[in-house]
Amino acid sequence: MAGLAAAARARELGAEVVVHEKGDRPGGSMLLSSCVVWRYREWQRFRAECPTGDPQLQRAVWEGLDDALAWLESLGAPVVVRETGNELTTGVRFDPRGLTSTLVARAGEIRLGEPLIELPSGLPVVLATGGFQGDLALVRERITTQAEKLVLRANPWSSGDGLRLALLAGARESAGMDEFYGRNLAAAPRISEADFVPLAQVYAKHALVENLRGEPYEARTWSEIDVAQ
Ligand SMILES: Cc1cc2nc3c(=O)[nH]c(=O)nc-3n(C[C@H](O)[C@H](O)[C@H](O)COP(=O)(O)OP(=O)(O)OC[C@H]3O[C@@H](n4cnc5c(N)ncnc54)[C@H](O)[C@@H]3O)c2cc1C
Repeated sequence: MAGLAAAARARELGAEVVVHEKGDRPGGSMLLSSCVVWRYREWQRFRAECPTGDPQLQRAVWEGLDDALAWLESLGAPVVVRETGNELTTGVRFDPRGLTSTLVARAGEIRLGEPLIELPSGLPVVLATGGFQGDLALVRERITTQAEKLVLRANPWSSGDGLRLALLAGARESAGMDEFYGRNLAAAPRISEADFVPLAQVYAKHALVENLRGEPYEARTWSEIDVAQ
Protein backbone atom coordinates (compact mmCIF):
# COMPACT_ATOMS: atom_id res chain seq x y z
CA MET A 1 0.00 0.00 0.00
CA ALA A 2 2.69 2.47 1.01
CA GLY A 3 4.61 2.13 -2.24
CA LEU A 4 1.58 2.54 -4.51
CA ALA A 5 0.30 5.52 -2.49
CA ALA A 6 3.75 7.17 -2.54
CA ALA A 7 4.04 6.63 -6.30
CA ALA A 8 0.57 8.03 -6.99
CA ARG A 9 1.23 11.10 -4.85
CA ALA A 10 4.72 11.69 -6.27
CA ARG A 11 3.31 11.62 -9.81
CA GLU A 12 0.55 14.02 -8.77
CA LEU A 13 3.34 16.38 -7.65
CA GLY A 14 5.08 16.06 -11.02
CA ALA A 15 7.72 13.38 -10.43
CA GLU A 16 8.57 10.60 -12.86
CA VAL A 17 8.16 7.32 -11.02
CA VAL A 18 8.90 3.62 -11.54
CA VAL A 19 7.39 1.10 -9.10
CA HIS A 20 9.29 -2.16 -8.59
CA GLU A 21 7.06 -4.99 -7.34
CA LYS A 22 8.62 -8.28 -6.30
CA GLY A 23 5.32 -10.16 -6.43
CA ASP A 24 3.27 -11.27 -9.42
CA ARG A 25 0.49 -8.80 -8.59
CA PRO A 26 0.27 -5.33 -7.05
CA GLY A 27 -1.36 -4.55 -3.69
CA GLY A 28 0.87 -6.43 -1.23
CA SER A 29 -0.78 -7.36 2.05
CA MET A 30 -3.21 -4.47 1.62
CA LEU A 31 -5.06 -6.49 -1.02
CA LEU A 32 -5.56 -9.33 1.48
CA SER A 33 -6.54 -7.08 4.37
CA SER A 34 -9.79 -5.87 5.94
CA CYS A 35 -8.68 -2.45 4.61
CA VAL A 36 -9.79 -0.39 7.61
CA VAL A 37 -7.48 2.64 7.53
CA TRP A 38 -7.69 4.28 10.93
CA ARG A 39 -6.11 6.35 13.70
CA TYR A 40 -6.78 6.77 17.39
CA ARG A 41 -9.26 9.54 18.13
CA GLU A 42 -7.18 10.82 21.06
CA TRP A 43 -3.48 11.57 20.79
CA GLN A 44 -2.87 10.55 24.42
CA ARG A 45 -4.48 7.18 23.84
CA PHE A 46 -2.30 6.61 20.76
CA ARG A 47 0.84 7.31 22.81
CA ALA A 48 -0.39 5.10 25.65
CA GLU A 49 -1.08 2.18 23.29
CA CYS A 50 2.19 2.58 21.34
CA PRO A 51 4.59 4.16 23.86
CA THR A 52 7.83 3.12 22.13
CA GLY A 53 6.82 4.53 18.74
CA ASP A 54 8.59 7.61 17.33
CA PRO A 55 6.41 10.52 18.57
CA GLN A 56 7.20 12.71 15.51
CA LEU A 57 6.19 9.99 13.09
CA GLN A 58 3.10 9.17 15.14
CA ARG A 59 2.12 12.84 15.17
CA ALA A 60 2.44 13.00 11.38
CA VAL A 61 0.14 9.98 11.00
CA TRP A 62 -2.32 11.19 13.62
CA GLU A 63 -2.57 14.71 12.19
CA GLY A 64 -2.40 13.71 8.53
CA LEU A 65 -4.64 10.68 8.27
CA ASP A 66 -7.99 12.43 7.79
CA ASP A 67 -6.63 14.44 4.84
CA ALA A 68 -4.96 11.32 3.45
CA LEU A 69 -8.26 9.43 3.55
CA ALA A 70 -10.01 12.31 1.80
CA TRP A 71 -7.25 12.23 -0.86
CA LEU A 72 -7.73 8.50 -1.44
CA GLU A 73 -11.47 9.03 -1.77
CA SER A 74 -10.92 11.92 -4.18
CA LEU A 75 -8.98 9.52 -6.43
CA GLY A 76 -12.01 7.22 -6.50
CA ALA A 77 -11.10 4.63 -3.85
CA PRO A 78 -14.39 2.91 -2.92
CA VAL A 79 -15.47 3.33 0.72
CA VAL A 80 -17.35 0.40 2.27
CA VAL A 81 -18.01 1.88 5.74
CA ARG A 82 -17.22 5.26 7.28
CA GLU A 83 -16.42 3.99 10.74
CA THR A 84 -14.17 1.42 12.37
CA GLY A 85 -16.61 -0.20 14.81
CA ASN A 86 -14.32 0.84 17.67
CA GLU A 87 -15.09 3.96 19.71
CA LEU A 88 -11.38 4.55 20.38
CA THR A 89 -10.59 4.97 16.71
CA THR A 90 -11.77 6.80 13.62
CA GLY A 91 -11.27 5.86 9.97
CA VAL A 92 -12.68 4.37 6.82
CA ARG A 93 -12.99 0.85 5.46
CA PHE A 94 -12.13 0.66 1.78
CA ASP A 95 -12.76 -2.15 -0.63
CA PRO A 96 -9.24 -3.62 -0.96
CA ARG A 97 -9.55 -4.53 -4.64
CA GLY A 98 -10.99 -1.12 -5.47
CA LEU A 99 -8.32 0.71 -3.47
CA THR A 100 -5.59 -1.31 -5.17
CA SER A 101 -6.90 -0.69 -8.70
CA THR A 102 -7.41 3.04 -7.95
CA LEU A 103 -3.78 3.41 -6.85
CA VAL A 104 -2.43 1.19 -9.64
CA ALA A 105 -4.16 3.42 -12.20
CA ARG A 106 -2.21 6.41 -10.84
CA ALA A 107 1.11 4.88 -9.85
CA GLY A 108 2.67 4.94 -13.34
CA GLU A 109 4.86 2.13 -14.61
CA ILE A 110 4.75 -0.95 -12.35
CA ARG A 111 7.39 -3.62 -13.00
CA LEU A 112 5.87 -6.84 -11.67
CA GLY A 113 8.29 -9.59 -10.68
CA GLU A 114 11.19 -7.13 -10.63
CA PRO A 115 12.30 -6.70 -7.02
CA LEU A 116 14.51 -3.83 -5.98
CA ILE A 117 17.73 -5.59 -5.04
CA GLU A 118 20.04 -2.62 -4.67
CA LEU A 119 19.67 1.11 -4.29
CA PRO A 120 20.30 2.97 -7.57
CA SER A 121 22.85 5.73 -7.12
CA GLY A 122 21.75 9.31 -7.64
CA LEU A 123 18.02 8.58 -7.59
CA PRO A 124 15.63 9.10 -4.69
CA VAL A 125 14.05 5.80 -3.58
CA VAL A 126 11.07 5.13 -1.32
CA LEU A 127 11.53 1.77 0.40
CA ALA A 128 8.09 0.23 0.99
CA THR A 129 8.62 -3.52 0.97
CA GLY A 130 6.40 -4.36 3.96
CA GLY A 131 7.80 -6.30 6.91
CA PHE A 132 9.99 -9.42 7.09
CA GLN A 133 7.26 -11.96 7.85
CA GLY A 134 8.08 -13.87 4.66
CA ASP A 135 11.63 -14.67 5.81
CA LEU A 136 11.81 -17.57 8.27
CA ALA A 137 15.38 -16.78 9.30
CA LEU A 138 14.54 -13.18 10.20
CA VAL A 139 11.36 -14.21 12.04
CA ARG A 140 13.37 -16.80 13.96
CA GLU A 141 16.09 -14.29 14.79
CA ARG A 142 13.79 -11.38 15.72
CA ILE A 143 10.44 -12.81 16.85
CA THR A 144 10.44 -16.46 17.95
CA THR A 145 12.65 -19.52 17.71
CA GLN A 146 9.49 -21.44 16.72
CA ALA A 147 9.08 -19.43 13.52
CA GLU A 148 8.17 -22.43 11.38
CA LYS A 149 5.09 -23.04 13.58
CA LEU A 150 3.59 -19.65 12.68
CA VAL A 151 1.11 -19.39 9.79
CA LEU A 152 2.12 -16.66 7.34
CA ARG A 153 -0.94 -14.40 7.21
CA ALA A 154 0.36 -11.84 4.72
CA ASN A 155 1.80 -11.57 1.23
CA PRO A 156 4.71 -14.03 0.77
CA TRP A 157 7.14 -11.52 -0.77
CA SER A 158 7.80 -9.24 2.21
CA SER A 159 11.03 -10.79 3.40
CA GLY A 160 12.89 -7.83 4.84
CA ASP A 161 14.45 -6.52 1.61
CA GLY A 162 13.79 -2.90 2.54
CA LEU A 163 15.25 -3.44 5.99
CA ARG A 164 18.44 -4.92 4.51
CA LEU A 165 18.80 -2.17 1.88
CA ALA A 166 18.24 0.55 4.45
CA LEU A 167 20.73 -0.93 6.92
CA LEU A 168 23.30 -1.25 4.10
CA ALA A 169 22.72 2.42 3.28
CA GLY A 170 23.47 3.36 6.90
CA ALA A 171 20.02 3.47 8.48
CA ARG A 172 19.49 2.53 12.11
CA GLU A 173 16.77 0.26 13.48
CA SER A 174 13.96 1.77 15.51
CA ALA A 175 12.49 0.37 18.71
CA GLY A 176 10.11 -2.58 18.63
CA MET A 177 11.85 -4.87 16.13
CA ASP A 178 10.74 -7.84 18.26
CA GLU A 179 7.09 -6.80 18.14
CA PHE A 180 4.77 -7.97 15.40
CA TYR A 181 1.26 -7.59 14.11
CA GLY A 182 -0.46 -10.95 14.40
CA ARG A 183 -3.80 -12.63 14.97
CA ASN A 184 -4.82 -15.90 16.51
CA LEU A 185 -6.24 -18.06 13.74
CA ALA A 186 -8.67 -20.95 13.85
CA ALA A 187 -6.70 -24.20 13.48
CA ALA A 188 -8.04 -25.01 10.04
CA PRO A 189 -6.13 -27.82 8.26
CA ARG A 190 -5.25 -25.62 5.30
CA ILE A 191 -5.41 -21.84 5.27
CA SER A 192 -5.58 -19.93 2.00
CA GLU A 193 -5.41 -16.17 1.43
CA ALA A 194 -9.22 -15.96 1.22
CA ASP A 195 -9.41 -17.33 4.79
CA PHE A 196 -7.11 -14.69 6.31
CA VAL A 197 -9.88 -12.30 7.39
CA PRO A 198 -12.67 -14.74 8.37
CA LEU A 199 -10.38 -17.11 10.33
CA ALA A 200 -8.88 -14.36 12.51
CA GLN A 201 -10.10 -14.69 16.06
CA VAL A 202 -10.34 -11.67 18.32
CA TYR A 203 -12.22 -13.12 21.24
CA ALA A 204 -9.56 -13.70 23.85
CA LYS A 205 -11.66 -11.62 26.23
CA HIS A 206 -14.38 -14.30 26.03
CA ALA A 207 -11.99 -17.26 26.15
CA LEU A 208 -9.53 -18.96 28.47
CA VAL A 209 -6.07 -18.21 27.09
CA GLU A 210 -3.22 -20.40 28.32
CA ASN A 211 0.39 -20.94 27.33
CA LEU A 212 1.93 -24.40 26.88
CA ARG A 213 2.63 -24.60 30.62
CA GLY A 214 -1.07 -24.03 31.38
CA GLU A 215 -0.49 -20.54 32.76
CA PRO A 216 -3.50 -18.26 32.13
CA TYR A 217 -3.14 -14.98 30.23
CA GLU A 218 -5.50 -11.97 30.29
CA ALA A 219 -5.64 -9.81 27.14
CA ARG A 220 -4.26 -6.35 27.93
CA THR A 221 -5.23 -4.58 24.70
CA TRP A 222 -8.53 -4.15 22.85
CA SER A 223 -6.81 -5.35 19.66
CA GLU A 224 -5.54 -8.51 21.38
CA ILE A 225 -2.25 -8.05 19.54
CA ASP A 226 -0.57 -8.81 22.87
CA VAL A 227 -2.25 -12.23 22.97
CA ALA A 228 -0.74 -13.20 19.62
CA GLN A 229 2.64 -11.73 20.58
C1 LIG B 1 -5.68 -10.45 6.63
C2 LIG B 1 -5.16 -9.08 6.96
C3 LIG B 1 -6.01 -8.11 7.44
C4 LIG B 1 -5.53 -6.82 7.73
N1 LIG B 1 -6.41 -5.86 8.10
C5 LIG B 1 -5.95 -4.59 8.32
C6 LIG B 1 -6.86 -3.54 8.60
O1 LIG B 1 -8.07 -3.69 8.55
N2 LIG B 1 -6.34 -2.30 8.89
C7 LIG B 1 -4.98 -2.07 8.88
O2 LIG B 1 -4.55 -0.94 9.15
N3 LIG B 1 -4.10 -3.06 8.57
C8 LIG B 1 -4.56 -4.29 8.27
N4 LIG B 1 -3.68 -5.27 7.91
C9 LIG B 1 -2.26 -4.92 7.82
C10 LIG B 1 -2.00 -4.15 6.52
O3 LIG B 1 -2.47 -4.89 5.42
C11 LIG B 1 -0.50 -3.92 6.39
O4 LIG B 1 -0.02 -3.27 7.54
C12 LIG B 1 -0.20 -3.02 5.18
O5 LIG B 1 -0.61 -3.65 3.99
C13 LIG B 1 1.27 -2.70 5.15
O6 LIG B 1 1.51 -1.87 4.04
P1 LIG B 1 2.91 -1.87 3.36
O7 LIG B 1 2.84 -0.96 2.19
O8 LIG B 1 3.96 -1.61 4.39
O9 LIG B 1 3.13 -3.40 2.89
P2 LIG B 1 2.36 -4.22 1.78
O10 LIG B 1 0.99 -3.72 1.56
O11 LIG B 1 2.50 -5.67 2.12
O12 LIG B 1 3.25 -3.94 0.47
C14 LIG B 1 4.61 -4.31 0.41
C15 LIG B 1 4.92 -4.64 -1.05
O13 LIG B 1 6.34 -4.69 -1.24
C16 LIG B 1 6.62 -5.75 -2.14
N5 LIG B 1 8.04 -6.10 -2.02
C17 LIG B 1 8.67 -6.78 -1.05
N6 LIG B 1 10.01 -6.81 -1.28
C18 LIG B 1 10.21 -6.12 -2.42
C19 LIG B 1 11.37 -5.76 -3.20
N7 LIG B 1 12.62 -6.11 -2.83
N8 LIG B 1 11.22 -5.05 -4.35
C20 LIG B 1 9.98 -4.68 -4.75
N9 LIG B 1 8.83 -4.97 -4.08
C21 LIG B 1 8.97 -5.66 -2.91
C22 LIG B 1 5.63 -6.83 -1.73
O14 LIG B 1 5.48 -7.80 -2.75
C23 LIG B 1 4.37 -6.00 -1.48
O15 LIG B 1 3.62 -5.84 -2.66
C24 LIG B 1 -4.15 -6.53 7.59
C25 LIG B 1 -3.27 -7.51 7.08
C26 LIG B 1 -3.77 -8.77 6.75
C27 LIG B 1 -2.84 -9.78 6.17
